[in-house]
Amino acid sequence: MSDTADYRALSEAYSAHNYHPLPVVITEAEGAWVTDVAGNRYLDMLAAYGAVNFGHRHPRLLARARAQLDRATLVSRAFDHDQFGPFVRDLARLCGKDMVLPMNTGAEAVETALKTARKWGYEVKGVPVDEAVILTFAGNFHGRTTTIVSFSDDPIARNSFGPFTPGFRSVPYGDIEALRAAVDDRTVAVLLEPIQGEAGVVVPPSGFLTAVRELCTAAGILMIDDEIQAGLGRTGATFAADHENVVPDIYVLGKALGGGIVPVSAVVADTDILGVFGPGQHGSTFGGNPLACAVAREVVAMLTTGEFQERARELGAHLHRRLAGLPDVKAVTGRGLWAGIQLPGDARRISERLLARGVLAKETHGTIIRFAPPLVITREELGFAVEQLESALAETD
Ligand SMILES: *Cc1c(COP(=O)(O)O)cnc(C)c1O
Repeated sequence: MSDTADYRALSEAYSAHNYHPLPVVITEAEGAWVTDVAGNRYLDMLAAYGAVNFGHRHPRLLARARAQLDRATLVSRAFDHDQFGPFVRDLARLCGKDMVLPMNTGAEAVETALKTARKWGYEVKGVPVDEAVILTFAGNFHGRTTTIVSFSDDPIARNSFGPFTPGFRSVPYGDIEALRAAVDDRTVAVLLEPIQGEAGVVVPPSGFLTAVRELCTAAGILMIDDEIQAGLGRTGATFAADHENVVPDIYVLGKALGGGIVPVSAVVADTDILGVFGPGQHGSTFGGNPLACAVAREVVAMLTTGEFQERARELGAHLHRRLAGLPDVKAVTGRGLWAGIQLPGDARRISERLLARGVLAKETHGTIIRFAPPLVITREELGFAVEQLESALAETD
């Protein structure tokens, strides 16, 4: 079997239709490029929603994974292993926090942070049991579990999945007064994305993260910063909150933490918060496994040099300048190597034209194209993507 249509037909026939993929069947990937089964090459401007920050199959990460494959891959947390301690120490240090609770997917880490905040709320803050409220924001995306879609306002993510988990209240994103008004004696935490990714790379007003930090401190509630997509270099800093010098109480990490090789997520916080967990109160069979820890520890090491953050900062500024100059683009949002490009018309059509022109990108919310290339991309490659976007926008059919 070699034909794109044959593979697509199999996927259509045998997989649930919970995605609407572009008609490309990838077979190989390296750096910022992927190759399909027909031998066509594409520049990857999505990077698995930011999970491939270091490019596909980064040699350093592959070497670390290969070495670990020859040693031990999974032992469960019933036993300790030699990759665990060094990884949690290094990640805690990267975040400037005391401890780490590793999981696998982003949604699991968000669930972990919510459980942490509730338990902390009852046992440390003294909120009456089962009455804790966590504040969230309109337009949020934190994953797809039943609890997480309970505080989503996207009808596609929610409809037919109720009954929903209580204990959440949503306010407009970027509106500090609405947030202040929503805080009461049952509030235990604020959960936010420092830049809303799935909403279309929406950046809050300057000073918003600082104001949330001050409000949380004053109210004695936890600031939970979901850096799953924004973090680990993407915006030109290790964490998007760094741009305002804001330190949240809880970091939620995922996506790029696994180096594009294995799913690795984590909640990182100080002992007075993550210390609420005792044995059996939370866990995961695969969380913190030797292969995951080995790869993620290498990811952390790669981030400590600042090299990738620097690339994202410089190349990102260049990308945003180039995009802003395109005649058919209505607006460009985002930061670093992360851009939400608002188009006058159907963005799906544009992503299909980009595909035909050798660029992989995905539309979101009908009229927005997101660019989130691997941070190893070059200036010339970015230029290629922008030129193809310009041509795709000029095309008529
Ligand atoms: C992708 C994402 C998640 C969910 O991660 P999964 O690994 O898909 O479960 C949560 N929060 C944010 C901000 C994300 O971008």
